This record gives sequence, C-alpha cells and structure tokens, in this order.
Amino acid sequence: MAVALRQKRTPIVELVSIGTELVQGERGDDNSPYLAKELAGVGLVCHRFTVVADLPLTPLVRAIREASQRSDLLILSGGLGPTDDDLTREAVAKALGRKLLFSPSLLEGIRKNFRRRGVFMPSINARQAYLPKRARAIPNPLGSAPGILLEHRKKILVVLPGVPKELRAMFQQTVRPYLKKRFPRATSLPSIRLRTTGLPESHVNARLEDLIQKENQLTFGFYAHGGIVDIKLMAQSSGKEAKESLRRTEREIRRRFGPFIFGKESDTLESVVFSLLKKRKKTISVGESCTGGALSTAFTRIPGSSDVFRMGVVAYGNDTKISVVRVPEALIRRHGAVSEPVAKSLAEQARRAGKTDFGLGVTGILGPAGGSRKKPVGLVHIALATPKKTHHQKCLFAGDRETIRVRVVRAALEMTRRALLR
Ligand code: ATP
Ligand code: MG
Repeated sequence: MAVALRQKRTPIVELVSIGTELVQGERGDDNSPYLAKELAGVGLVCHRFTVVADLPLTPLVRAIREASQRSDLLILSGGLGPTDDDLTREAVAKALGRKLLFSPSLLEGIRKNFRRRGVFMPSINARQAYLPKRARAIPNPLGSAPGILLEHRKKILVVLPGVPKELRAMFQQTVRPYLKKRFPRATSLPSIRLRTTGLPESHVNARLEDLIQKENQLTFGFYAHGGIVDIKLMAQSSGKEAKESLRRTEREIRRRFGPFIFGKESDTLESVVFSLLKKRKKTISVGESCTGGALSTAFTRIPGSSDVFRMGVVAYGNDTKISVVRVPEALIRRHGAVSEPVAKSLAEQARRAGKTDFGLGVTGILGPAGGSRKKPVGLVHIALATPKKTHHQKCLFAGDRETIRVRVVRAALEMTRRALLR
C-alpha cells in the first residue's frame, strides 16, 4: 500500500476549497484552516489556499491543474455530491487527463449506506461511484460521498467532501494515517504559544526585538485579536539545540512579561479565570448591562462552571438596575448609568445577591448610537467587588458593537484574573 516517499526537501502542500458559496462570501471556508492545522500536526506545512467556484468547469480544472503542478500533496474539498453543480470529480479527471471509471463495488457501498439509514438511494447518487483511473475511494463514515485518493507523477492528490463534519472524520480515519506513512520523515516542529493581554501588539513585538535578532533557531510570530496578543515561537528544526532555544526563550519572555502572560497554547481567559477561582475555592456573580449576557456566557461556556459561577443578571434598562439589582436610583440620576459608581454598585449588588466571594459589574456604551462628547461610544466602566474592596477600571474601546463587546468581556475577565493573582 502506502510507500514512503524518500523526500529530501520538505513537501509542498496546497489546499483547494471548492464551492460557489465560498467565493460569493455566503460562507467562510472552514475546511482549509482545519486541514492546515491538522497537517502541521504531522509535520506538513501548507503553502497556499485556493478558493474556487464549482462552476464554470474550465477555471476549476485550471485551478486544480496549477495547484497540482506546484505541490507534492494537494487536498481538495467540496463538490463531491451527486447533484449537477458537484463537478469536482469531473474536474479532477480532466485536470490530470484520466478517465472516470465506474466502480460497481463503490456503488454497492453507497447503496448499502443508504439502506442502513432506511432510505432508498436516488439514482443520481450513482454518479458518486465514478473514480478517476487508478484512484482509490476514501470511505465516508458520515455521508454518501466517498473521497478520492490518487497518486499522480509522484504527487499525491486527495479529494474530500465539502461538509466539514464528513471531511474531518475522513481526514482522521483515512487520510492522516496514510500521510504519516507516506511522509515518515515529516516531523512537526516544536512550537510554543504564549498568550498575553493588556499590551498592544507593537509593544509586545518591540520588547522582544533583541531576542528575535539573537535566537536564530526560532521563528517569532505575533497574532493580535480582541485585546489578546499571542506570541508564537516556532523552532526551525527538531534538534536539541532548537528545543533548548525554545525553552530558554520561553523563560526569558515569561520573565519580561510577568503577569501579562495569562496562559499557554489552548488556554483562554475564561478557562484560566475558572481554574484560578476553583483553585482558590472562590465564587463569582455578574451584574452586566452593555454586554447583554456575554460575560455570563463566557463563564458558563466552561464545563463545570457551576462550581464557581452562581448568578448572572442582565440589567439592561435603568429600572431593572434599580428594581432587580438594587442599584440606588440616586446613583443613576446623579452620575448616569454609564459611570464608575453604577459599575461599582452593580458589582457589589451582584456579589451580595449571589452570595459569592466576587461580583463583577459592567456598564458602557457599545454604539453605534448613544454616545456623547463626555461619554463617547466605547466608554465602559468595569468593577470587581471583592471581600476587601471594590476595584474599578474605566476603558475606552474602539470598534463596532461586537468588537467592543468582546473587549469588555476580556477586560472584565482579566480584572478578575489579576485580583486572583494577588
Ligand atoms: P454533498 O454530498 O453534501 O453535496 P459535497 O462534497 O458536494 O457534499 P458541497 O456541496 O461542496 O460538498 O458542500 C456541502 C455543504 O458543505 C454545503 O453546505 C457547503 O456550504 C458546505 N461546505 C463546503 N465546503 C465548505 C468549506 N470549505 N467550509 C465550510 N463549509 C463548506
Ligand atoms: Mg454538493
């Protein structure tokens, strides 16, 4: 079966996502990012993603031909269904100059699949029983469309259906083990992702300039999104020296950034705050206004959150702030709903009503309307009530409603994390 390729250079990998809905912006491409990450896990680095429409056929054929000429491994997804707009099978055959051959055993497999689900197979599904010459089918445990695996002039071409769930199952079940055999020398290079918050990207980068110059065994990457900046360190080889350099650099970055680093790899602010609360045996409640439940959602998204999260109230209107959360009416009248005293009161009252160690209060203006010169869009007051005192932070965030909402939730979580570190 799979013969290991004796490759001296690193294989060139490309991915092509096929779908008219993808190029028309109706749907984002989930498949290529997934595949790229999984491939990196087995040491295969992607060089290029292409997104192309199902129709017309000629540009699709051209896209497949060009990508296959450039790459050692090409994975296509989408358009393997039985309908007239599913042309990937034909396009692959044309691009490689191979005939499509009917496979009776494949048809029997597809028919069985339908029978198992108690459905009669529509005759158009017979199209899925065609394979380019000398190709083999990749079983699809979740749907009717089999995938295609073929080798062409020492290159490998894999075709998977577009449905993300099916693609993932088939990749894990068949493609991944196959690639590991085919590319035994590909090893994933060690890397580390350190997650920071509270510092702008340029600042994070600038503070590491000397290390970037000095550590020539490593590649540095910075990724900023919604108040978080990830520092990614990638070793350029899997040798001892590179690994040592990775460890040394992590230690040095931790020394430089201290508490600005909240986690590593797949840690999130909510998972870190949850773990800290749990470790310290502390509980928390939330009284939120402008975030409309997003802060409570962040807490409750974590399995087991009931150990630490007791109550979340969305007090959007002023009357609710007064009647439900018991923020004194005079505070709102005197300072306005978006103010330090109201944020503090929301936090203290949430803490009291939830009978918890901590209470978080959030109030702000998410926009696009409702801002003024004194209180512009993006102004947010966050407060954290603890047994000892009530902390407060005034923030001014830029962006649209959704962006600001994400930033507020993260800032509130970060405030809680810092308090738990003390
Ligand atoms: P089917 O047998 O379901 O027709 P198919 O291989 O023909 O499978 P498509 O028709 O291309 O796949 O897509 C099926 C579904 O999967 C559609 O809802 C499509 O929007 C979605 N899909 C296809 N490609 C992608 C992608 N790259 N990312 C996310 N969703 C995708
Ligand atoms: Mg389809």
